[in-house]
Amino acid sequence: MKSLLRRCVNCGEYTLSKDKCPRCGGAVRVPHPPKFSPEDKYQKYRILQKLLMGK
Ligand SMILES: [Zn+2]
Repeated sequence: MKSLLRRCVNCGEYTLSKDKCPRCGGAVRVPHPPKFSPEDKYQKYRILQKLLMGK
């Protein structure tokens, strides 16, 4: 599913407008899709380790 959400490059406002920001009139872009950071990955291992250590 493609997101219709855009983000203003000027003020950072999220909008559904395709051409310009309704707030400041700045250019809008499709925001980068959220990615899992390495920290999240490590946190997953930490939680797993905690569970294993707890037993
Ligand atoms: Zn804006």
